[in-house]
Amino acid sequence: MEKTNYKYCPQCNAEYEPQIEFCSDCNVTLVDEQPVDIPLDQIEWVEAGQFSGRVYGEMAGEILANNNIPYFLKSDFFTTAFNVSPVNVPGAVVKLFVPENDKERAEQLIMNISN
Ligand SMILES: [Zn+2]
Repeated sequence: MEKTNYKYCPQCNAEYEPQIEFCSDCNVTLVDEQPVDIPLDQIEWVEAGQFSGRVYGEMAGEILANNNIPYFLKSDFFTTAFNVSPVNVPGAVVKLFVPENDKERAEQLIMNISN
């Protein structure tokens, strides 16, 4: 069975083409797929860490993805232009959000990156 890799906004639940990275309405990174068990709008997203730059947030996200923990990144510095990122913006803080149920596990996993 061919899997369609649509992405979803964890905040407004909108569906996006796979190449899109951000929800332009909510300024959050999209998640790869809707979790099977829990509808996205029923997930309680909590902050699991803060990073000084999107690149660190994405490093943490990669670790979480490898452990099957859904996540998204949020930053006030995200813009609606998909190719602009706050990586080089001094002091840009990126917040990592995970479902409440996965928070403790996520914090352990990203302990070495978090600052
Ligand atoms: Zn959205």
